[in-house]
Amino acid sequence: MARKNNHIRLYVDHPLRAAQRVSLTRDQAHYLFGVMRLGLGDAVALFNGRDGEWHAQVSEAGKKGGVLTCADQTRPQTAPPDLWLVCAPIRRERLSFLVEKAVELGAARIVLMQTEFTQDAKRVRVDKLQATAVEAAEQCEALVVPEVTEVTKFKPLMDGWDPTRQIMFCDEAAAGAATSLPDTPPPNTTHPWAVFIGPEGGFSDTERARLREVATPVSLGPRILRAETAAIAALTLWQSRLGDWT
Ligand code: SAH
Repeated sequence: MARKNNHIRLYVDHPLRAAQRVSLTRDQAHYLFGVMRLGLGDAVALFNGRDGEWHAQVSEAGKKGGVLTCADQTRPQTAPPDLWLVCAPIRRERLSFLVEKAVELGAARIVLMQTEFTQDAKRVRVDKLQATAVEAAEQCEALVVPEVTEVTKFKPLMDGWDPTRQIMFCDEAAAGAATSLPDTPPPNTTHPWAVFIGPEGGFSDTERARLREVATPVSLGPRILRAETAAIAALTLWQSRLGDWT
């Protein structure tokens, strides 16, 4: 849940159309009525990732639940660029930060990848990361919530890779080389892309060789960035050159 000049935005996994009644979860009811002190008739903006954004009103309010009724659509559904962030899980609080930034920077999917040097991939709480993604989408006025995937091992991920999805391989071994993104396909493309970011320990030589078979390594400047910084920098570079910032 997020608020913008008194407008609260809520992601609901529920169809949205005129007069649609949407039942609230206990948590949502607690937030709207307990924390934000909303009452009958108050406005809430709803989105579900498919039907755009809807103006809804509180039609039932209670401690353990409530109902919002859709009035009219305020924003049509739009699809963000088909851009995945493929990253190795890093330490918990930093990973949560990375997921939040990736949502704000328009990643359409966040693929967690276990590489050779990834630390404690077993302890990743994907459910908590997905909740972070929902909150970030509510706050940044996104109309979709990217899926945060379960952790996938590097080799099967690459073995099953769709070759039409172009890879921006952020390679710390290329640090300091000229930073250039392949300029094909043209900017503002609907072409599918993926940004690859390694763990604190970086990519192994085997992984680097495998990625270099299918992608040109990209330098993010002469300094070695933390993974979460590199993800922010790479997504920014991609959006400004090929994405929806142009
Ligand atoms: N421990 C490694 C660095 C890992 S940084 C070392 O000292 O070499 C974590 C990830 O961020 C890297 O795998 C890479 O994907 C990205 N990264 C960090 N700095 C980068 C740079 N200057 N250029 C390209 N990628 C970078």
